[in-house]
Amino acid sequence: MQAMRNKIFFLLVILCFSQAAFATELADTLLIAQPIDTIQFQTELELEEERLWCGLHPADSLYFGCWDTEWVNPYKIKIDSLPDSIFFLCRNYVHPIESKRITSNFGLRRYRFHYGIDIGLNVGDTVRSAFDGQVRIIDYEKRGYGRYIVVRHSNGLETVYAHLAKVFMHVNDTVKAGQPIALGGNTGRSTGPHLHFEVRFLGNAINPTKLIDFESQQVLQENYLMVKKETYDHKKILDELAKAQYCVVRSGDTLSGLARRYGTSVSALCKLNKISSKSIIRIGQRLRYR
Ligand SMILES: [Zn+2]
Repeated sequence: MQAMRNKIFFLLVILCFSQAAFATELADTLLIAQPIDTIQFQTELELEEERLWCGLHPADSLYFGCWDTEWVNPYKIKIDSLPDSIFFLCRNYVHPIESKRITSNFGLRRYRFHYGIDIGLNVGDTVRSAFDGQVRIIDYEKRGYGRYIVVRHSNGLETVYAHLAKVFMHVNDTVKAGQPIALGGNTGRSTGPHLHFEVRFLGNAINPTKLIDFESQQVLQENYLMVKKETYDHKKILDELAKAQYCVVRSGDTLSGLARRYGTSVSALCKLNKISSKSIIRIGQRLRYR
């Protein structure tokens, strides 16, 4: 009888071991089958509901609990440190403005990078929140954004709406997708009434056209898979720009003199500044030499 009991116990132990080994193998397979760093959005959504219910800010865990009401990018997370890929639930998107008139695209602008897309409008046109979320910043920047608003969304993205005439919201207000949040205007560094619209993730701007079709005013995919290498393919330009150095032309300066002073050539100076070697440079002009 004792021998029989021992045999059954031994068999049970073997069974448990093989089950455990199978479970580990299965877990490994699952891990390999999924893209590394991809956050399962369904789980995230459930957590999100729970967070909001607890009175926390949208996408709090993605943003390490950081909720700053002053800086557009307080996170200082480099593009290299972003997840390799992540899903954003964009199902309930509402286009922020009726106008379809794009006046300037995302990308390099002579000496600086334009982190958003500009849409021409009439002063007083309604500006709406693109997704559900919570207002993080309302501020006025005389030489930049003008009157602007930043919203953190439940899906983990943040949007910026700038050069506004009037803002209807308060900091920390919760908003619904499509809710009017402001009136379009021409405030700050702006040469005509337009909405400067940015989409950011962990502080790093994304080309809005990668997410949104500005003609049909719809999102391109309801579950947008951000693949870092593709979504942030402008990183090379940003890296180049970070290395850029400038000088200001003084009385008596010539292109060849400046090239000598900064250890470069006239042709390199011309290429960087998109000028010809015969161009006349004027005092006070800003030239890039690296
Ligand atoms: Zn702009």
